[in-house]
Amino acid sequence: MELVFATNNQNKVKELTKLLPAHLKILSLKDIGCMEDIAETEDTIAGNAKLKAAHVKNNYGYDCFADDTGLMVDALNGAPGVYSARYAGEKADAEQNMQKLLNELNGIEYRKAQFKTVISLKLGEKDYLFEGICKGNILYKKQGIKGFGYDPIFQPLGYIRSFAEMDLAKKNKISHRALATKKLVAFLNTLKH
Ligand code: IMP
Repeated sequence: MELVFATNNQNKVKELTKLLPAHLKILSLKDIGCMEDIAETEDTIAGNAKLKAAHVKNNYGYDCFADDTGLMVDALNGAPGVYSARYAGEKADAEQNMQKLLNELNGIEYRKAQFKTVISLKLGEKDYLFEGICKGNILYKKQGIKGFGYDPIFQPLGYIRSFAEMDLAKKNKISHRALATKKLVAFLNTLKH
């Protein structure tokens, strides 16, 4: 059975392929000739994940799954949320996004936040959603250089280190994306050959 992972990140595809039974073949967007940018126009994380999976299903006919992630900060009413990738502007990089977040939280002690990943799976006529949440706090300044995105300023609950100070293997045990992926894999492993 072939299943498209609506991503062009080959590392993500490789990582997932290792976790799945051999009868499931994972294809990337490039593998199916989908080169267009799929605009993330929904205002929720689940909405954008569904939109990406539906784009592939409707235009290419493949069963498919897609993921979307956001960082929700309590004191900012859930911002940056669905806009995490472009918090400081359409072309903003991770550094600018982090700086904006630190500025917004300047003087605020209540720094609870959570990362949420939603995976939307479209199998035949059916739709499934898998969610992973990682709770934590936004640090006062950057710590560590590993990872990507908001990792240097996110400290998962129960840890003294930021995500950017952890090895990938450690982060992958507790991260939002890892938890959502685990649920997806458990489900796919139950499918009949
Ligand atoms: P995406 O949906 O996986 O592209 O994630 C959207 C945005 O959320 C990214 O551009 C990052 O800014 C942020 N993000 C997602 N996952 C992580 C993570 O594990 N650590 C830090 N930032 C993340």
